[in-house]
Amino acid sequence: MAKLKIGIIDLVSKGPATTMWARIMHANLASIMPTVVATWCEQEGHSVQMICYTGFEDLDKELPRDVDVVFICSFTQAALLAYALSNYFRTKGAVTVLGGPHARCYPDDAILYFDYVLGFTHKSTIIGLLDNCVSQSEGKYLSEKNQPVSLPGVEERWKFIEPTLKKAPFIKGVPMLGSLGCPYTCPFCIDSTVPYQTLDFETTKNDLRFLLTKFKRPLVSWHDPNFGIKFNENLDAIASVAPPKSFRFIAESSLSILTEDHLKTFQQNGFEAILPGIESWYELGNKSRTAHKSGEEKMNQVSEHVNRVFQYIPYVQTNFVLGLDCDEGDEPFELTKRFVDKTPAAFPGYSLLSAFGEAAPLNLGYQRENRVLPFPFQFLNNHLAMNIKPKNYEWIDFYDKVIDLTSYTFSNKAIYRRFMANGGFTTKWMNVMRAISSEGYGRLKFFRQVRAQLIEDKNFRDYFEGETTELPSFYTDIIKETLGYWYQWLPKGAIEHDQNAYLHKSLKKVA
Ligand code: SF4
Repeated sequence: MAKLKIGIIDLVSKGPATTMWARIMHANLASIMPTVVATWCEQEGHSVQMICYTGFEDLDKELPRDVDVVFICSFTQAALLAYALSNYFRTKGAVTVLGGPHARCYPDDAILYFDYVLGFTHKSTIIGLLDNCVSQSEGKYLSEKNQPVSLPGVEERWKFIEPTLKKAPFIKGVPMLGSLGCPYTCPFCIDSTVPYQTLDFETTKNDLRFLLTKFKRPLVSWHDPNFGIKFNENLDAIASVAPPKSFRFIAESSLSILTEDHLKTFQQNGFEAILPGIESWYELGNKSRTAHKSGEEKMNQVSEHVNRVFQYIPYVQTNFVLGLDCDEGDEPFELTKRFVDKTPAAFPGYSLLSAFGEAAPLNLGYQRENRVLPFPFQFLNNHLAMNIKPKNYEWIDFYDKVIDLTSYTFSNKAIYRRFMANGGFTTKWMNVMRAISSEGYGRLKFFRQVRAQLIEDKNFRDYFEGETTELPSFYTDIIKETLGYWYQWLPKGAIEHDQNAYLHKSLKKVA
């Protein structure tokens, strides 16, 4: 096989970043797969240049040079930057490949702008691709049936992980994976259709041993969709190589996993931050151990549970989805405000209901009901736009409720109560920083701008109602500003996409 010069770009940011939150956290949000692909490519004898773009680099200067092939990993919110970069590299004669969540959610759109688009990717997928790597007039989608059963460990990937970690000023979390997929079936989730599998515990143990040679007390951020499903095996593997308190861990685990016994074990092993998904007061109770409870009863039980978690874990972020079809009237929002009062130490993370292409089975239903709006990818990040028309709310009423809840959650009083209820310097200041940076104040300001446009601009309102597909200049201007220099490289038509592509594809399969 010819030895190739390969560039790998991990897009954490969709454009230049300025906020305090981005400065501290973006380098901690790097993906695992770009470092895996980089390692596989090197194992095959190719030379690799890799960059993780956090929004603070001069991208033009730091891009890989003189490469034959470029792999780009992107979430949907950075897809337009990915498309622009692909266009740029193709004019320089490179073959371009897209991987990551956007590739899995919108493969039919991505093949218009890349030579190859990757779904589930194994080492053999990469070898096959590089063996016969030529530019394509129509992009090819390559996907294996399942996720890979094993991945190179942290030690093997360290030369690609370390430069990104060096960009993080204080918190330096090493991303690791103990499992893939999830046994739960939350219908909006990309992992709900991926069979649960653990990765090799021996690799995990080696990685932990290796990290002890690199840091005094390493911080590991588990990227498992739902950490601790096989709780005992997982924690036994950790405990066998990591003496108590020698590590700090962050994980996303559902409340159903956070029993008192498990919490004690988490605490003994240095788990310092947990992010359980609550999502709704009316549905998805099985993952929060509230299967037969709903509304106020569920809120009270979840609040008690989360307060109990704080006896063992210093940092908890509780995740909610706003605008689900089961929500109606004031109650869901008022219950969340009560939760904020009753659970003052928790940091609530709010997501506006969004349908990411073919990520989740539920999206087919939204597309069938003609409720998916064609917001450009740049805004699909769970808060800049909600691309599903809510079932039980008018838009202005919905934004009023979202604004009310967000301002309540990040009011001076709530910030102060959270500060006082949290223990430890890092937790206290992390939550204040999140509240006054892009996540609290920043989102509130943006929601208010959207609400004002909904009232003042008929075209804007019509776009939200699905009565026009003409994108309001409010959004076009943001795209131009965010992409900056790279806007000129955006291929023609890339701002638009078929928001019902998943439905059209499934109808074709039936015919
Ligand atoms: S529990 Fe979490 S990871 Fe699992 S399907 Fe539900 S949302 Fe997805």
